Amino acid sequence: MSDRIDALLNRMTLAEKVGQLNHVSAAADTTGAAGAVADIESSIRRGEVGTLPGGLELARLRALQKIAVEESPQRIPLIFTLDVIHGHRTIFPLPLALACSFDAALIERTARVAAIEAAATGITLAWAPMLDVSRDARWGRCAESPGEDPLLGAMMARAMIAGYQQDDLTQPDAMMACAKHFAGYGLAEGGRDYNGVDASPYRMHNEVLPPFKAAVEAGVGAVMVGFHALAGIPCTAHRELLRELLRERWGFDGLIVSDYTAIPELVHHGVAADVKEAALLSFNAGVDIDMVGECYIRHLPALVAEGRVAEADIDVACRRVLEAKRKLGLFDAPYRGLDEARRHAVTLAPEHRRLAREAAAKACVLLKNDGVLPLGRGKTFAVIGPLADSRANMQGTWAVAAQSADSVTVLEGLQAAADKVVYAKGANVVDDPNIAARLNVFGETFAIDARTPEELIADAVGIARLADVVIACVGEAKEHSGEASTRTELGLPGSQRNLLMALHATGKPLVLVTMSGRPLALEWEDRHAAAILHAWFAGSEAGNGVADVLFGVVNPSSKLAMSFPRSAGHCPIYYAEPPSGRPIDMVGIDVAGDGDVDRAGKRVFRKFTTACRLEGPHTPLYQFGHGLSYSAFDYGELTLDKTTLRGESDILKASVTVHNAGAMAGEEIVQLYIGDPAASRSRPVRELKGFQKVLLQPGGRRTVSFTVTTADLRFFRADRLAAPEAVWEPGAFVIEIGANSRDVSAARVEWQDGA
Ligand code: BGC
Repeated sequence: MSDRIDALLNRMTLAEKVGQLNHVSAAADTTGAAGAVADIESSIRRGEVGTLPGGLELARLRALQKIAVEESPQRIPLIFTLDVIHGHRTIFPLPLALACSFDAALIERTARVAAIEAAATGITLAWAPMLDVSRDARWGRCAESPGEDPLLGAMMARAMIAGYQQDDLTQPDAMMACAKHFAGYGLAEGGRDYNGVDASPYRMHNEVLPPFKAAVEAGVGAVMVGFHALAGIPCTAHRELLRELLRERWGFDGLIVSDYTAIPELVHHGVAADVKEAALLSFNAGVDIDMVGECYIRHLPALVAEGRVAEADIDVACRRVLEAKRKLGLFDAPYRGLDEARRHAVTLAPEHRRLAREAAAKACVLLKNDGVLPLGRGKTFAVIGPLADSRANMQGTWAVAAQSADSVTVLEGLQAAADKVVYAKGANVVDDPNIAARLNVFGETFAIDARTPEELIADAVGIARLADVVIACVGEAKEHSGEASTRTELGLPGSQRNLLMALHATGKPLVLVTMSGRPLALEWEDRHAAAILHAWFAGSEAGNGVADVLFGVVNPSSKLAMSFPRSAGHCPIYYAEPPSGRPIDMVGIDVAGDGDVDRAGKRVFRKFTTACRLEGPHTPLYQFGHGLSYSAFDYGELTLDKTTLRGESDILKASVTVHNAGAMAGEEIVQLYIGDPAASRSRPVRELKGFQKVLLQPGGRRTVSFTVTTADLRFFRADRLAAPEAVWEPGAFVIEIGANSRDVSAARVEWQDGA
């Protein structure tokens, strides 16, 4: 086959090779938009298109593929792409929600189903997984992310890539995955999408890059470059990031794709005088495919003629595209997946919906419970709130092939689970119709009730009075998060808090089902609600999944993959924070060396630590790793098999016994953290190094052990992005095991050099 590609390359003109690097506009895809159809067909016929967005009309895609393989100069098939982010037609919980399951097998199963459904619409390259470590809840794209932790991000990378690609991309239900957005996009300054990022190579290697490294090691087929600038250099033009680090140091040989129109945007970034220079910069930096920018197709041939781009480099990039097509089996089966019967058979298959229900329940995080949950069935339930019966909002952002008609609402889920259910809307998601209109994207609309907020609340209070328990379903609209959806306030939008205050005043037990694509600021809710179940956006089976958890059919087991701040002013907030010289919980420094920590250190600094508490605690409201269960898990003492270790290959065993003191069987995610209190760099106070999800029967007890090696002590020193140095530094380490990133028991070990 490589001979076939060599022969093909030899036959291709420069223009045809550049054509393979051209990903054309979505406006010219399967929608048949006026004016675009003729263009796209003749572009394909001339060999000017390598990849293009797929869609739902298979006949149309078939016709385009037919032109490519029968009429284009070299008969090269097209790759059809799509954002398959958390499901295709069957929608699973948001990636951030799935990450909360800490369950690689579950995530892989959802990715598998997404691939089965998407590949049955001709999609062979998915723009996922999104692997941007996200620590700022204001940033709307945290919804698509694995959350704040690099280890969890790496787990997500491996699980999704395995689910999408399988071992053999020629399988009819496999698709190539694309890790995005390389790299550091999640650190956008102020959480404002597309903003610049100024992250040191140290930060990049320790916090941002591990999920991408894991993706490359897992054989991901493509990498998409971030829109943002990294320390003044837009990633799209970042030669050190793309060529030196990703290609040369990591050995990645798959496709490097720009983000949507990111190449011409180099002009806006202020690093290219015009689009021709933009093409020059991005191609020479290592970007193979120009997504929709039209810069390569227009300018690369001239740049080669002028000697500013080497034709040999075009050959290399083109070969990668042809290799991708070969790996996907497209030369032999160009019409793979373009078969209505198969699409019909697999789309929304009952087993896909069952998995969606399972995943929805497993992704919900129980933030608070005073004992009201699980609910007993015989009561009357008032289901209230703008998201209780909002089919259009269940899927969450980036569910491009979803149809809201397929979704089960929370009201429907509860009606199916209980006999006596009454309902009131109680509030609009937002009160301002202009904002509501902006939240209706991807052709979806959700209705704004014409009644005033006061009328809606009065109606809801009347309904609440009829019930034994109020279940209020509140939160964001799905497009409050996602691309370009930054928020500066993280409370419930519109008049939803007023609704909750009125419901609380009825004296009925108030259970909240909260939905959002980001952590919310829920201090009032935490103080006043009897229970809070955070359902994120849980997908096609959201309502059934939520009902399963509320009634205890499923015992909640998820833990937060991203910390919940108390207010937007706390952002960014994350558990693995760097230590400060004046920590809030400072115990002082024994300057005199006489064992009296209070004397020198603490007195001097007390004023400062008090000052920063003027507006309340600076800790998250719900920390990373937090999540309750209907079981009650007691943790025993942390035990270590040794406290002094020696050398690179020594191994530590850290264990804890967990006991289910509750009455229900349940799963607990036991977490291992490690801190490095004295190193050559100021290391995070703790970092997640392992986790295990264990099932315990009522009264059950299990000793959970973790093996710690020097690989877990390792961090990167890096002065240049492309020259990281992985080190572990002998000395003291703090080993912690617990139920979340705050409630841990700790012990110190000395890990010395030498054998
Ligand atoms: C997003 C990418 C996405 C691409 C194609 C861009 O706006 O940043 O994540 O894959 O569009 O839809």
